Amino acid sequence: MTTEEKLQALKQRIKELLPAVSVEDVQFEGPAIVIYTEEPQRFLEDSSIVRNLAKELKKRISVRPSASLLKEPEEAVEVIKSVMPAEGGIKDIYFDTDKGEVIIEAEKPGICIGKQGSAVKEIARRIGWKPHVIRAPPIQSSIIRNIRRFLREESEFRREFLKKVGRRIFRDKIHSDVWLRVTALGGCREVGRNAFLLSTPETRVLIDCGVSVGSDIIPYLYVPEVSPLSDLDAVVLTHAHLDHSGLIPLLFKYGYDGPVYTTQPTRDLTALLLLDFLEVSSRDGGEVPYKASHIRDFVRHTIPLKYGEVTDIAPDIKLTLYNAGHILGSAIAHFHLGNGIYNIAFTGDIKYERTLLFEPAFNDFLRMEALVIESTYGGPEDIQPSRQEAEERLKDAIQRTIKRGGKVIIPAFAVGRSQEVMLALERMDLEVPVYLDGMIWEATAVHTAYPEYLNKELLRAIYQGENPFLSDIFVQVDDADKRKDVIEENEPSVILTTSGMLNGGPVLEYLKALAPDERNMLIFVGYQAEGTLGRRIQKGWKEIQFSAAGKIENVKINMEVVTIDGFSGHSDRKQLIEYVEGMRSPPSKVICVHGEGAKCISLASALHKRFGIETIAPHNLETVRFL
Ligand SMILES: [Zn+2]
Repeated sequence: MTTEEKLQALKQRIKELLPAVSVEDVQFEGPAIVIYTEEPQRFLEDSSIVRNLAKELKKRISVRPSASLLKEPEEAVEVIKSVMPAEGGIKDIYFDTDKGEVIIEAEKPGICIGKQGSAVKEIARRIGWKPHVIRAPPIQSSIIRNIRRFLREESEFRREFLKKVGRRIFRDKIHSDVWLRVTALGGCREVGRNAFLLSTPETRVLIDCGVSVGSDIIPYLYVPEVSPLSDLDAVVLTHAHLDHSGLIPLLFKYGYDGPVYTTQPTRDLTALLLLDFLEVSSRDGGEVPYKASHIRDFVRHTIPLKYGEVTDIAPDIKLTLYNAGHILGSAIAHFHLGNGIYNIAFTGDIKYERTLLFEPAFNDFLRMEALVIESTYGGPEDIQPSRQEAEERLKDAIQRTIKRGGKVIIPAFAVGRSQEVMLALERMDLEVPVYLDGMIWEATAVHTAYPEYLNKELLRAIYQGENPFLSDIFVQVDDADKRKDVIEENEPSVILTTSGMLNGGPVLEYLKALAPDERNMLIFVGYQAEGTLGRRIQKGWKEIQFSAAGKIENVKINMEVVTIDGFSGHSDRKQLIEYVEGMRSPPSKVICVHGEGAKCISLASALHKRFGIETIAPHNLETVRFL
């Protein structure tokens, strides 16, 4: 059957199922079946119509008002402002042309929505667009604002792109045999450059495409299995860290023009980190093999998914993303093959413990035959202290420094670790300011824009107006003058700044100025990779060299240096084993990746002994057949 014939048949079927509602047109758009209607309010008033239809057709259903009903955005904004009371505090109004939605950001969403949704219903009737009222994020994020503006400019492209993707997803299957295999293109027995190819007779999906931080080796993207890149069906991104996302723009440079499935916060954080990566690398004379335009390609080809949303991404594969507990928006990618013949999940990076930011990684899968699991802390010696112990040690160290009149430097990654440490600091009732320098403030703004991705307790606090990120102990440092003031100020303080391993960023200026004074303290809360300045200082170097304007400057490290484990966004060995143990039924095959060789092997062997299941720690370029 051609796509046109399929759409006609589908339209007929939907009309039969909904005899009393107008169905003007039916389209495949990305992974959804979209119904265009002249009566959008009917669907808005009774949400069971869409629910029942989705259940009946086993597909994602979206409803859009037909184009003739949509008022011009300027006119629509006027109507919204005239209907919604000023006390609602509207902060921003923007249009999502993909979905025919208008998003209204307000300080008091309840007041804007009106009694039993009266204001929303009236607006929908008058402007055609479906109003969606959300709480305005308390800190404005410039990356989110830029991405929204960009996507609005690209709405024409998006429409055509989603149609093309939709037609490809809902194409007829060609093959009658069934098999499934995974090829390791990077990230096996090493940390960095994660990339895995999942293939079936019908479909090829790439999971992650990362850089090797601190080196220029890249995944094996030139092997026949992934060539040409334009033939890939989909790319799935587990989370924003560069060792998973850093080379996705390269795919677009080399001809890929299909979808990237990920969560919305991951899309935004990835754009933020990629742009920074490009800027920092070119400043340091390094080379990134793509341009800013390829990062924009990533953004406009992204199809955001929510946790738990079952989505067709190919004729034989459904994808569902689940919370990974690692950083904002991080996801475990679960693939469901055929009509449930086989299920395989890729954990990406996971934290199987409740942290100050997130719920523990999800592992309550109904079905799971195979699991590809990270092994960063998979070695027998990798047991981390509990989060509570880590917080107590951090508090002691900071108070000791304050008492002797010193300043504390905490180097941290902008995304994830910084916000976790911010929450820990906020709970300590410190009487000194906490300065935030580098990209931390912007990354925090993205966190506050997506509170539904945070853990329940934090979400509740934010909704009750007790947003800990807004505490007045936090002071943003955004230029060189303020940085100088912080350094010269004759009072104790805490400075949380990037980069996390001291390989660049504002942390170096603080270090240069504050290292010689023995009252000060440097606290490591994250992993320090071999070859970084952070690792050298951790090992006990007492003097370091900085070169500035052609001159070499020697700086003595007299400040106290402390390492506090336990703030990691990764599961330790115990948690990795508990993660598998806590599943409904253990998978029959576990693949251990994303860790130094010895750690992958050690975790694989521990899981095999413990659960009697087949485990493998593959090398890069190996292919494992599952079915
Ligand atoms: Zn990560």
